[in-house]
Amino acid sequence: MSKRVIVIGAGFAGLSAATSLADKGFDVTILEKNSQAGGRARMFEQDGFRFDMGPSWYWMPDVFETYFGRFGKKTSDYYNLVRLDPSYTVVFGANDAVDLPAGVENIQAVFEQMEPGASRRLLEFLEQAAYKYDVGINQFVWKPSRRVSEFMSLKLLQDVMRLDVFQSFSSHVRKYFTNERLLQLMEFPILFLGATPANTPAMYSLMNYAEITMGTWYPMGGMHEIVKAMVKLAEEKGVKILLNHPVKQISVTNGIANKVETYQGTFEADVVVAGADYQHVDSKLLTPGYQNYDDRYWKSRVMAPSSLLFYLGVDRRVPRLQHHNLFFDEDFGLHAHEIYEKPQWPTKPLFYVSAPSKTDPGVAPAGMENLFILIPVAPDLNDPEETREYYYNLVMDRLEAYVGETIRDHVVFKRSYAHSNFIADYNAFRGNAYGLANTLRQTAILKPGLKSKRVNNLFYTGQLTVPGPGVPPSLISGLVVAEEVTKEFGQRA
Ligand SMILES: Cc1cc2nc3c(=O)[nH]c(=O)nc-3n(C[C@H](O)[C@H](O)[C@H](O)COP(=O)(O)OP(=O)(O)OC[C@H]3O[C@@H](n4cnc5c(N)ncnc54)[C@H](O)[C@@H]3O)c2cc1C
Repeated sequence: MSKRVIVIGAGFAGLSAATSLADKGFDVTILEKNSQAGGRARMFEQDGFRFDMGPSWYWMPDVFETYFGRFGKKTSDYYNLVRLDPSYTVVFGANDAVDLPAGVENIQAVFEQMEPGASRRLLEFLEQAAYKYDVGINQFVWKPSRRVSEFMSLKLLQDVMRLDVFQSFSSHVRKYFTNERLLQLMEFPILFLGATPANTPAMYSLMNYAEITMGTWYPMGGMHEIVKAMVKLAEEKGVKILLNHPVKQISVTNGIANKVETYQGTFEADVVVAGADYQHVDSKLLTPGYQNYDDRYWKSRVMAPSSLLFYLGVDRRVPRLQHHNLFFDEDFGLHAHEIYEKPQWPTKPLFYVSAPSKTDPGVAPAGMENLFILIPVAPDLNDPEETREYYYNLVMDRLEAYVGETIRDHVVFKRSYAHSNFIADYNAFRGNAYGLANTLRQTAILKPGLKSKRVNNLFYTGQLTVPGPGVPPSLISGLVVAEEVTKEFGQRA
């Protein structure tokens, strides 16, 4: 008889772990709290608009191909990818914006205009970043990071030195470029990792490599198409997905998790894989004595920012916007200070506007625009309606000044989303949006571990454990944990 695995949570990591385990012969059931799979990448439809609720940037297409390829499939079996050109626009002021085109040569031309010699230095930068991408994405992120010895081979140790883990991204990039705007462009992908460039290891220039050489993509229909594809594949492999099944407890007897309890019933398990937020599972679903970490540990973690989001349906097109628009028209230093050093609602935040209807007519009624606005903010803030409204008007003033027309008067649908929604919907620790920041002290074996220290058959996956936040790392996290479960609990290798 197949061993029974209960996976908690149908986010990217839970779906990935479940599919891989079912493929290896386990009998897998996912228990998902919400009425829809996808976790932070859920979607909703309203008045003819289709909104992706979380991720909007499709980077590292190779990782998605690797994922589906594991099961003999291709992304094109499920969804249609288009490459965006320009990849994105950076707004420096109402009359001042730079489009980042697709293709290295085109980007070189933009760089050269901003700083003489920068096109050649970009190639030098990409050469070292290519090595980091190769070692980082093809080797390091696949390590379960359970033991230091995993990293002890001479080759990997040499690689660690070449990866620049002990140098900050901020000082690394300044060896190549001096123009402030150019530096901002290069530092932007690092913000995805949830820490400032000064606190992020230079190893993550692999993000620039991915973005510049592999491009920015979009799955037609929206990012949730990835979730739909993963659900379909999971079900093809025999995974049972039970929606509206919030887990309330993991029952442990003599160090073995043998039952998972929901409000709808109890599920017996030989192995449990927790894909819900790590801190929630560790602190709330286990009885004291079986927890990996105490409150002090969790309080001392550096979280990636949370977000204040707005989903807007606009009853006309907004010509000046591109698909991805980054508003870098205020001081990043002050905003970062108000996220990390002195957490508070930001004085003059940077923000991001996505308009997927620029690429995809299916996500808005004809002649209308689908807008998603994201303001990165510190975790753990109160988010009352008045505060949300204040920021809505603050970013709208800047957005309207940039596009040169009123948008507010044409908003026919509006929904906001912030900390309290992340907590209510995902049991998110401190209302986090993207998990833990990728600082040096929260990398690899220094992250919350993927296996419980006290419950022998309990594993963790997802953005709070290895390898980290983001859609590609969450997919990898699920595959890595499935390998570890298989090593210890058998079924087909
Ligand atoms: C606003 C936003 C924008 C983002 N933008 C990008 C982007 O552009 N590109 C990118 O690559 N990444 C992006 N990310 C990050 C990316 O979305 C996440 O890293 C990834 O989705 C995390 O997946 P996960 O499976 O670890 O967690 P989740 O998606 O949170 O999945 C966990 C699941 O567990 C469920 N759950 C929680 N508690 C319980 C319980 N008690 N019982 C049962 N189920 C439970 C939740 O409902 C959820 O479905 C973004 C994230 C956010 C929030």
